[in-house]
Amino acid sequence: MRLAVSCIFGAFVVALVIAAIISSRSDKPIGPTLTRLQIAFLIPLIGNMIIIMSGRYFYSLTGYYIYFIGMDIAVYRVLIFTMEYCELNWPIKYLKHLVWTLIAIDGIQYALNPFTHHAFTLQAIKVYGFNYYLNVTYAGQNYHRIICYGIFTIALLLSIYKLVKSPKIYRERYLVLTVAMILSCLMETFYIFSRTPMDISMTAFATFGMLAFYLSLYYRPLKVLDRMLGNIISELNESIFFFDVSGKCLWANEPAMDLVKVSGEDYEVARERLAEEFGDYTNSGDSWAVKKFVGETQEPRFYNLELRALSDDKGRETGKFLRVRDNTDEQVKIQREIYSATHDRLTGLFTKEYFYELIGETLKENPGKKYYIIFVDVNNFKIVNDVFGMDFGDQALKEIAIWIEESSKKTWVYGRLGGDTFGALVPVEDFDQERVEKELTNFVVKDRNKEHHLLIHLGLYKVTEEKLDVSVMFDRAHLAINRIKEDFNTHIAYYDDNIRQSVVKEQLLATQISEAIETRQIVPYLQPIVDSHGTVLGAEALARWIHPTEGFLSPASFIPVLERNGMIADVDLHIWRCACEILKQWHEKGIDRFLSINISPKDFFFMNVPDTLIKLVKEYGISPKSLRVEITETAMIGDADSRMNDIQKLRDNGFIIEMDDFGSGYSSLNLLQDMPVDVLKIDMAFLRKAEDSQKAEMILYNIIAMAKDLEITSLTEGVESLYQFEHLSRMGCKLFQGYHFSKPLPLEEFEEYCRINAES
Ligand code: C2E
Ligand code: CA
Ligand code: CA
Repeated sequence: MRLAVSCIFGAFVVALVIAAIISSRSDKPIGPTLTRLQIAFLIPLIGNMIIIMSGRYFYSLTGYYIYFIGMDIAVYRVLIFTMEYCELNWPIKYLKHLVWTLIAIDGIQYALNPFTHHAFTLQAIKVYGFNYYLNVTYAGQNYHRIICYGIFTIALLLSIYKLVKSPKIYRERYLVLTVAMILSCLMETFYIFSRTPMDISMTAFATFGMLAFYLSLYYRPLKVLDRMLGNIISELNESIFFFDVSGKCLWANEPAMDLVKVSGEDYEVARERLAEEFGDYTNSGDSWAVKKFVGETQEPRFYNLELRALSDDKGRETGKFLRVRDNTDEQVKIQREIYSATHDRLTGLFTKEYFYELIGETLKENPGKKYYIIFVDVNNFKIVNDVFGMDFGDQALKEIAIWIEESSKKTWVYGRLGGDTFGALVPVEDFDQERVEKELTNFVVKDRNKEHHLLIHLGLYKVTEEKLDVSVMFDRAHLAINRIKEDFNTHIAYYDDNIRQSVVKEQLLATQISEAIETRQIVPYLQPIVDSHGTVLGAEALARWIHPTEGFLSPASFIPVLERNGMIADVDLHIWRCACEILKQWHEKGIDRFLSINISPKDFFFMNVPDTLIKLVKEYGISPKSLRVEITETAMIGDADSRMNDIQKLRDNGFIIEMDDFGSGYSSLNLLQDMPVDVLKIDMAFLRKAEDSQKAEMILYNIIAMAKDLEITSLTEGVESLYQFEHLSRMGCKLFQGYHFSKPLPLEEFEEYCRINAES
């Protein structure tokens, strides 16, 4: 018997030692406390073992002392462990000192016991034939028991407190601890009152030690995990269905039940509804997308489905689960992004890039089919914006887009090329020129109190070379418009061989320009400017190119292309030099005449215009007054401030500034206020276009009157008849230029003209 008990105790000692080692290595916060608890249990256990095994008085006495002191330490450790395990930090502060004091007193009384025998003495008895020393207890021992029970009871109460206070799912954790404590307590009590000679209650404490070890380090409350996982799945936005191996639906979360509109826990009905709504989900692969139209409005909704097999650790299938995710928001966002990348925000038509792509595809898909590429352009759209405001401009563009949309058939592709230009790809047989012409004759944009007639031009390129870049096709269609740019009555122009040849020719001319300047193929022709008596006061220098093979070229045939590539500055500088040369000759001959030179808006980008002119007049030794400078208001577009400074600088240096083509633009009146000019060149050719001549006359009359008020000299150009001349004179116009007096002439002919003019 003694051996058997010793073996049990031995086993517990080993177990506690192992547990202590493992606890000390654990990285859980409770590890150190646990180690101390195991060691604390070892002390009374060993004491107990000594008592049982020794059979001698002295060893038994030592065993009892170890046992009792060990019990003090053990219950203290139980209390500390319980507080930490139950996460009750607050009692430690108050209890620690009290408990220590009580235990210290107990220690002292045991130290006195060998002399006073007030706690216990030993009595030799025989148990199963062995010597055993039983302890006979006195008052001091009762003190020991009271503090041991007291401390233990506090620990037990704390454990019960925690058990009651915790959420249901966590109670298991504290219940096990509480039960273990109560059992240990009962066993100890049983020993005390049964007067069983051998105390084996320590086994209960050792068991408690092992349980504490397991509970702290290895116990995972499965119910808690279960519940947590369940909650997570239930709270997911995704719908989730679980199926067993036979395909039966075991469970579905709330969103899933809502998705198939089944209430309660009728999972089988849910499965049937799922199949109805989303088709055969068992046979659709791992993941797939479904688009459905729902509700009365038949709104589209997008779903992503994913079916996964579940298996155990041996790889056997245990069931399946299906995730259904509503990704309508994402899809709508993606579609919106695609839409805004491919559609123009203002008009809702396709953007240029996307539209080009579509044209490329359409042409590829329909080889041999005849198409027009159509370029749609609004003449002087800038005026609409500047005069009527951006909102009205936007409105105008929207109305053009609507017109294109409404005129279109399904097979057409159309879009906005940018700014005020649109484009279309139209099958040749669909294009009804007569109808379009008719619709464009009176294209009016209205906005409450504003109304404006838009001049819209269409350039058409018949696609003959399908391999051409779409942008090149549109360039060609655009080129066709150039021919009718200022034409108010024709709205449609076709790209043809002539245009192609003239483009080729233009490009060729550009390559010859330097040589043409050097060899003086480009010369100024002079057009007389007369006063109201018809006396020639000066002339405008207008460039002409006497080309060796092409013959006589007017500026219209080479200036636009030179303005595009910037070479205009070379030509202008050349003409200005020629003008200075002529002025120098006149000056030397004593002739007092001026020459007006033209400044292209582009010149300002390639040189410092005022400095160049100042240098030129110095170089030729002529008066800046005799070299008049013609600037159009388009030169002011862009950097108006710096243009204004340039003009001011020229005036400060004695040059006379003429505002060219006044009336052909739109903001002239506004500009006049700020622009320091000396002469206003009124563009008669523009006024001629106005159908109502009475209106034109009113305008003319007012411009001349206004110029007079502002002390600006008025000059009318494009005077073609005596009637016009006399009429304008009566209105108060000071200077005149036009075919009525003379066309632009080469220098010698001009001088001849002046000689005759002076004689008459
Ligand atoms: P612009 O400066 O307005 O020149 C007046 C144009 O009107 C000239 O055309 C002239 O020949 C024409 N013209 C004169 N009187 C009449 C008339 O009674 N009836 C009609 N229908 N036309 C008349 P041109 O010489 O062909 O010049 C056209 C434009 O080319 C000029 O318009 C000017 O903007 C530009 N240009 C001409 N020479 C130069 C130059 O050397 N440099 C620059 N930058 N531009 C120039
Ligand atoms: Ca001019
Ligand atoms: Ca002019």
